[in-house]
Amino acid sequence: MKRVVLDQIPFRVDRNLLFKRIHLQPDDEDGARVMEMIKEAEEIGRPKVVYTLSSINDKQDDHVIIDGVRLSSRIMRVNFADINRVFPYVATCGRELHEWAEGIEDMLEQYWAAVIMEQAHTAAQKYFYEHLENEYRLGKFRSMHPGSLEDWPISQQRELFQILGDVRKSVGVELTESCLMLPIKSTSGILFQTESDFVSCRLCPREGCPNRRAEYRPGLYAEKYQAAGN
Ligand code: SF4
Repeated sequence: MKRVVLDQIPFRVDRNLLFKRIHLQPDDEDGARVMEMIKEAEEIGRPKVVYTLSSINDKQDDHVIIDGVRLSSRIMRVNFADINRVFPYVATCGRELHEWAEGIEDMLEQYWAAVIMEQAHTAAQKYFYEHLENEYRLGKFRSMHPGSLEDWPISQQRELFQILGDVRKSVGVELTESCLMLPIKSTSGILFQTESDFVSCRLCPREGCPNRRAEYRPGLYAEKYQAAGN
């Protein structure tokens, strides 16, 4: 197992995107305060990623063993059928911005800070994908995230963090008792090389999800994941 921390990720707020998102213009009355916050955030923001290049030790019907840690998911078992290495990871906006935002009392400013933190989180993810492409030439890859589907419950964050080592120490992300991450602008998951078009949303019946990336396909689970022999 190889563990890598990416903590020198460039971060610059996309001003156009930010102002569009918060429905303001830089020359509006509140625009000057937003610009101040952008400068503060760029000074202290340190988006980060920790990942491992991990081996799949065993595959059974309803679980896989990765670096000695058991992950329970039938979908994962099928998705990982033809591969022997994966990339567990956590990408985050960073503790620095999280603490900066915690010190903001005005509700509107808290919202602006949250949008800035989202951009830092996106910067971390983009940097991670580019890094993997440069290092490993993965080509096509997909990811699975604990808690996005019942099949791989959020409680399995603990096992994922176990694979990644001391995530609080390496990138400042910790789990709450209910397995949510702090800072909340963080993502955890396992990235894997594949020729498939796997997207969790196709297996997720949740209605009205603002983050849906693909249409729900009832019957896909039974058709592709329940079948014996994988
Ligand atoms: S529809 Fe929403 S909740 Fe369901 S997997 Fe997609 S993003 Fe997650």
